[in-house]
Amino acid sequence: MIRNLLCMTAPVREGFEIPCHEIGPKSSHPALALVAGLHGDEINGVFILSRLADFLNSVEAGNYPDLRLIKRVLIIPAVNVLGVNMRSRTWPFDKSDINRMFPGSTIGETTQRIAYAVLEATKRADYRIDIHTASADFEEVPQVRLHGPSDAERVTARMFGLPAIMERSLSPVFTTTMMSSWKAWPGQSFVLRVGQAGTVQLDHCQRVFRALLSFLGRTGVLEGVRIAVEDEDICHFDKESALRVYAEKAGTFVSDRQVGRWVRAGEELGFIYDSFSGNVIEKVVSPAAGLLTGLRRHPLLFEGDLILRVNRRM
Ligand SMILES: [Zn+2]
Repeated sequence: MIRNLLCMTAPVREGFEIPCHEIGPKSSHPALALVAGLHGDEINGVFILSRLADFLNSVEAGNYPDLRLIKRVLIIPAVNVLGVNMRSRTWPFDKSDINRMFPGSTIGETTQRIAYAVLEATKRADYRIDIHTASADFEEVPQVRLHGPSDAERVTARMFGLPAIMERSLSPVFTTTMMSSWKAWPGQSFVLRVGQAGTVQLDHCQRVFRALLSFLGRTGVLEGVRIAVEDEDICHFDKESALRVYAEKAGTFVSDRQVGRWVRAGEELGFIYDSFSGNVIEKVVSPAAGLLTGLRRHPLLFEGDLILRVNRRM
C-alpha cells in the first residue's frame, strides 16, 4: 500500500507529498522501517529502496511462492522529494538539511514538519535503517555505520553480511539527526553508507539489495530467504583503525582501483598529475595494509583534500 506521510501546499505551484510504502501484515507499528533520500542527491539509497519496495510488493502479490512476508515493512525511498527532482542535497526552498531538523515539529518550518512526520512513522519500529552515501567527490565501500551502539546492535549489524561495520560514538554535536532521535526509542538503528552521491552505482546497489534481503531473512521479517553462506569476512572497524591520505599538492588525481579491496602497505593506488603539463607529481600509495574503504572520485585536487581511507584489521 502506498500512503502519503505528509501532504504540503506550496505558494505558486501544486502541493506535494512524501509517499511511503507499507507492505506486509497490518500491525500497530512496522517491524522494519527503511529510509533514504534525506539528502536529495544520494540516489543509490533512493534506487535501492524503490527496488526493494517493488520486490516486496511482488512477494505480497504471490509472485515468489517460496517467500512470505511475516511482518510489516515501512519504506520511505525519498524523504527529500523535491531535492531528488533537482539533484539537491538540501531542501530546495530554503537550503536546509533535513537531517539536521530532527526531532522536528508539527508547527515548524516545512523541513521540521517533514522530520516530525518521518520520525513518527519510523520510531516504533523494531529495526530502523537509514541509507546515505558519501559526497559526490568521494566513494565509500557499502558499509554499516553504528553510532554509539548497544551490544545487540553490534550483533545484528552482522546480519547484513556487508564487509565493513564502522563504529562511531554518538556525536555530541549533531544531536538533530534522525539517528539521534531514533536512539531515544527502543529498537535498533543502523546507517548504511553506500558509494557516492549524484549517481547510481549498480554494483553497490545490488550488493546492498542482497544485504537487505539477507537482513530481512535473518530477522524473520521475510520467510523463505535462502541465505548465502558468508563468503567473506565481516570486519568491525573503530575510528582508530582508519588511516587517511590527504593531498600534499594540487593536481589531477586518477585511480583505477575499486573500494572494498584489501591492499598492502605501500601499494600503488593512484597518481596525481600536473593538470597542465601532465607530469606525474606524486604516486599515491596505501599507508598500511588494510581494506580500501573510501576513495576520491573527483579528479581535481586541492592541497589538503582527502584522497583515500584504508582501515586496518583490528
Ligand atoms: Zn546523506
